[in-house]
Amino acid sequence: MIIARTTVELRAALDSKTGSIGFVPTMGALHVGHRTLIEKARRENDVVVVSIFVNPTQFLAGEDLSKYPRKEEADFKICELCGVDVLFYPEINTMYGKDEVGIKCPDIRGYILEGASRPGHFDGVLTVVMKLLNLVRASRVYFGKKDAQQLSLITQMVENYFMNVEIIAVDTVRESDGLALSSRNVYLSQEERIDALKLSASLKKATHLVMQGVIETKAISNAMMGILQPLKVEYVAIVNRRFEAIPEVIIGDTIVLIAARVGSTRLIDNVWM
Ligand code: AMP
Repeated sequence: MIIARTTVELRAALDSKTGSIGFVPTMGALHVGHRTLIEKARRENDVVVVSIFVNPTQFLAGEDLSKYPRKEEADFKICELCGVDVLFYPEINTMYGKDEVGIKCPDIRGYILEGASRPGHFDGVLTVVMKLLNLVRASRVYFGKKDAQQLSLITQMVENYFMNVEIIAVDTVRESDGLALSSRNVYLSQEERIDALKLSASLKKATHLVMQGVIETKAISNAMMGILQPLKVEYVAIVNRRFEAIPEVIIGDTIVLIAARVGSTRLIDNVWM
């Protein structure tokens, strides 16, 4: 595995390879969710590139940038074991200069749900993804459905800017008890981890209700709120794939999303129907 720390090293590494490139952008602290993306990229491409970069522009003032988990050694090992060809591991000043041209998320879809709780977050996400995609020039790029709004906005950016890459959406990987894997789970105490199961439990409830024929979104979100108590719920939302609120679930075009705080840790989860 080649570890490229600069854009010049990355270009040299990529120029030494031939064939399709599968790319998995991450912020590190890799877990089985990330591994699933990498393994899929491995199966579907000749060359696999992973980036590990804790992107400062997607963290708002007061958010957990400095204490975001970093596990360089373990991450390198995981990438190597998963058959990654090139690991891009840049410094902040490799990725950003001063007074740059900005990428801006859409005014509506970028400022609802996650964007309402974290205004400006998606500007940072789209900026770094644009930069990384321009550097790697991948055939396919892999993103988790766990970050559904992020996935949707990146898909829109690729369409709006006529970018030449195929986006592959990967199902959320969960612990056996239902907790969605997240780098932020390490912040949870044992007790909080049990509370955190309320997120996946409420999504399961939503699925069961829909299977029983309950499709009115208000009824479903009320039932979910009951399960999520006493967590500090930031939102429960039921939207279509374009992230528009809908009165009734439409199978094949619905996402149910939650953001909630468990102690001081902010968790998100969702289910696609
Ligand atoms: P992150 O390192 O949190 O930026 O995540 C990197 C990629 O992994 C993103 O596309 C995430 O959506 C994806 N990801 C994170 N957690 C999971 C999970 N539990 N299952 C599947 N994909 C995930």
